[in-house]
Amino acid sequence: MLSVILPIYNEQDGLNAFTQELVGVLQQHSVAYELIFVNDGSTDNSLSAIKGICAASPHAKYINLSRNFGHQVAVSAGIDYAKGDEVLLMDSDGQDPPEVVPTLLKQMEQGYDVVYAKRESRAKESFLKKFTAKVFYKLLNRITRIDIPIDTGDFRVMNRKVTNALKQMPEKQRYLRGQIAWLGFNQTYITYERKGRNTGETGYTYGKMITLALDAITSFSNWPLRVATLSGFACAALGLVLIMYTLYSRFVLGVYQPGWASLMITIVFLGGIQLLGIGMIGEYISRISDNVKNRPLYLVDETNIDA
Ligand code: UDP
Ligand code: MG
Repeated sequence: MLSVILPIYNEQDGLNAFTQELVGVLQQHSVAYELIFVNDGSTDNSLSAIKGICAASPHAKYINLSRNFGHQVAVSAGIDYAKGDEVLLMDSDGQDPPEVVPTLLKQMEQGYDVVYAKRESRAKESFLKKFTAKVFYKLLNRITRIDIPIDTGDFRVMNRKVTNALKQMPEKQRYLRGQIAWLGFNQTYITYERKGRNTGETGYTYGKMITLALDAITSFSNWPLRVATLSGFACAALGLVLIMYTLYSRFVLGVYQPGWASLMITIVFLGGIQLLGIGMIGEYISRISDNVKNRPLYLVDETNIDA
């Protein structure tokens, strides 16, 4: 059986049409399936739309989270409740087209553990979103040792072995595409054209995107900390030279200026470097603190799935 995880955040208008299309594709290819809708604190009528779908089909299940936890956590909740031998992650706004699903499943039959869908093109997305994504993935690949695939979202299918391995990762900062890459096993990809949203608007605000990017970097790289250390060394070396030069000109040459400009430059420069270093350390510490608190990743308000 295939478990399809569908995170929902304010998707009331497109949900029925999307579900029908998806179910149509699955039935056409005789795929045994369950749909797991995860309502991530929607503020519209998504929940009643989901319940309507679940009342009409025994294959549809839902989890209603107690508030908005964010896309990555919503998907993680769905994964915890999935019972299928294969688990499929996809957006519920139509951007990950259902007609690609059979291609993903077919690739799995070749003996892969994970098949992810790579975006050949991205329709109807803003220049800024595509540009920031590109820069981010370049940076991430440069500073991490694991290969996190470029131009992929979470649209992918994985088998039970990988799903169970993923469930063993307890971190509170979820970056699923990185975590799944980290797991290893036998992974491959297919390409597809990413569509525009059917209806509604993106729930990924720039704030949420920045959080995701910082989670990705801090989860998979200590490079920013190393930059802080290295720039500290560089500044200290430069400082040593400056001290010697200052002493030399003060006592040996006997020429010394009031020196306001150089002093200001040094202070501002060092102050900047120090704040940057402290900030980077802070990013890691705040995440350590989140993990040490050991709060649950999400809270379920209600569900029709027995644990
Ligand atoms: N989503 C969610 N919680 C959020 C934001 C989004 O569950 O806080 C869901 C949303 O309903 C959709 C998927 O995650 O199914 C992708 O979100 P969205 O389309 O808003 O992101 P984009 O495609 O613009 O990156
Ligand atoms: Mg979308």
